[in-house]
Amino acid sequence: MRKYYKFYVMAVAVLLLLVYAGSVYIDLLKNKKENFENESYAISAADMQRSVAEMILLKKKATVAIALSIADNKSFVHDIAGKKIDTLNYEDLISKFREHTLYKNIWIQVFDKDANALYRSWSDKKGDNLFNLRKDLQKVIETKKIVSSINPGKHDLSIRAIIPLFEGKDFIGMLEVISHFNSISKSLKKSDTDSVVLLKKEYKEQLQYPATKLFIDDYYVANFDAPLALREYLKSKGVENYLNSSYKVENHNIIVSYELKDVDYLPIGYIIMSKDISNISNTGADFYIFKWISYSIIILMGIAIIISSTLFYTKSRDKVFYENIINTSNNIIVINDKNKTINVNKTFFKYFKSFKNFELFRKEHECISDFFVKEKGCIQKQLEGESWIEYLLKHTDENHKVKMKVDDKVYYFSISASVVQDDKDHFAVIMSDITKQENYKKELEHLSVTDSLTGIGNRRFFQQKIEEECARSKRYKHMLSMIIFDIDHFKQVNDKYGHAVGDEVLIEYSRLISSMLRENDVFCRIGGEEFAVILPHANLEDSLKIAEKFRESVESSKKIIPITMSFGLAEYIQGESVDTIFKRADKALYDAKESGRNKVVVGHVL
Ligand code: GH3
Ligand code: MG
Ligand code: MG
Repeated sequence: MRKYYKFYVMAVAVLLLLVYAGSVYIDLLKNKKENFENESYAISAADMQRSVAEMILLKKKATVAIALSIADNKSFVHDIAGKKIDTLNYEDLISKFREHTLYKNIWIQVFDKDANALYRSWSDKKGDNLFNLRKDLQKVIETKKIVSSINPGKHDLSIRAIIPLFEGKDFIGMLEVISHFNSISKSLKKSDTDSVVLLKKEYKEQLQYPATKLFIDDYYVANFDAPLALREYLKSKGVENYLNSSYKVENHNIIVSYELKDVDYLPIGYIIMSKDISNISNTGADFYIFKWISYSIIILMGIAIIISSTLFYTKSRDKVFYENIINTSNNIIVINDKNKTINVNKTFFKYFKSFKNFELFRKEHECISDFFVKEKGCIQKQLEGESWIEYLLKHTDENHKVKMKVDDKVYYFSISASVVQDDKDHFAVIMSDITKQENYKKELEHLSVTDSLTGIGNRRFFQQKIEEECARSKRYKHMLSMIIFDIDHFKQVNDKYGHAVGDEVLIEYSRLISSMLRENDVFCRIGGEEFAVILPHANLEDSLKIAEKFRESVESSKKIIPITMSFGLAEYIQGESVDTIFKRADKALYDAKESGRNKVVVGHVL
């Protein structure tokens, strides 16, 4: 866990950084999107203004065309000259327009040359003079030319075409065709745009018979179909706020204002248009956001892929590196839990040749300790009531060795165990081969306690063994006897046959004695031609028989040259020292020599 602590801190820091960067990035995108939207609102507002301007222009031109076509009729001119208007003619004309054209609401007005009203198609009122009221009429009287304008009259704000009428060369009057804004607001509605056509409040006075009877504050509404919701909204927000600003985005709507101009190009009114912004195409912004979100996802994924593959590569490279180190080691390296071997390095198979791989090993064996062989000073499966692993972990300050038998071959290894980092249940066991050193040591030990001439134990070995056996006899209260014996007149053998023959005698007769011993008996050469046998579990009676058997065999064998031996024996008395038993046996031997040699004498308590 500790190992990953730094990693977790790093991961959290990176995550926080990413979240922060992400929020900054999203803000940026949001800003960009807003800019895009504002741009598209501005474009949309300009579009709305342009299209309404076009509609007005078209309507003006059409109104002029209608007026011209009526004025071309000579009988109208004649009527006007005679100031006798045949109203039926006009009514018929208007109903034909209504029936056959898109112009459903055409008004016709006829004036004499001084701007006295002679006829109104929508009213019976006539005879009044409009010269002072109407700038456009003044202009026609002055220039005698066609005037097309947007102008308020007494009834309405409307689109007007005024045609001067002549009889011969004489200017006799004017024909006016009036069309309304209703058709324009209907066309706007087709492109999801609500509209209100307003007359400037200065003209409220002039408007004596308001056609629509609709007002927002002092502003006359010139289109019948101006939606109530929009009218009320403008009223509540203060209609004047919208007149001079090109556009506003409010309440999920874009509100655009278009200025209407009179014959002198002076402002006379406004068209206020309102459109739901969701009807405004925003594909630019949407695509922009989509593009940058896609880019950022691709970039983030790329970074993630690079980081993870780098980590993976480094990790696998490290793994190969460490595996190589572990496998090229001359030591056996074993990963173990308390009872089982979990993994091994390649060197393991230099010893366990009969297993091709670890799986095959595990099929037959739980643990490498199955191969441990019991020996004094060596690690065993169980030690002091603990498993070998626990023992090794507890005693790390000592050197340990283990004896193993694999495929009938005996090996010694120095062995140590350590906890695998971060994992309390797994242990690394390192075993280095010390078989050669151990065998050499054993050889040295053997030589140090072996008589070089006869190959049996030497005096030092005898001393070790008698001490061990006395101690054991003391502890387990079993019997123990000892025989000391010496070749009779050996000096004479040497003298007579030479030293070499003497040596041969020593070798051959110790072989003879060896052949008569039991497994646990200990046979040593303790002096020049003096020997000792330690007989565990033998009492005085047994040892006497054995000694007598030795004596007889020596006497009768006659190997190389006939010799005899004298024997002194002693039985261990509980509690006595090693020295005392030895002295008693030695005294018995002395007594055997003294009393004629080739004898067995029992050593008694001194
Ligand atoms: P006794 O019957 O009293 O034991 O007489 P002995 O001659 O055997 O005794 P003594 O102690 O006088 O002589 C021992 C002789 O053993 C002296 C020595 O020459 C001989 N001897 C000791 N070690 C060796 C050896 O390694 N090889 C040979 N060839 N002779 C040895
Ligand atoms: Mg002797
Ligand atoms: Mg001697």
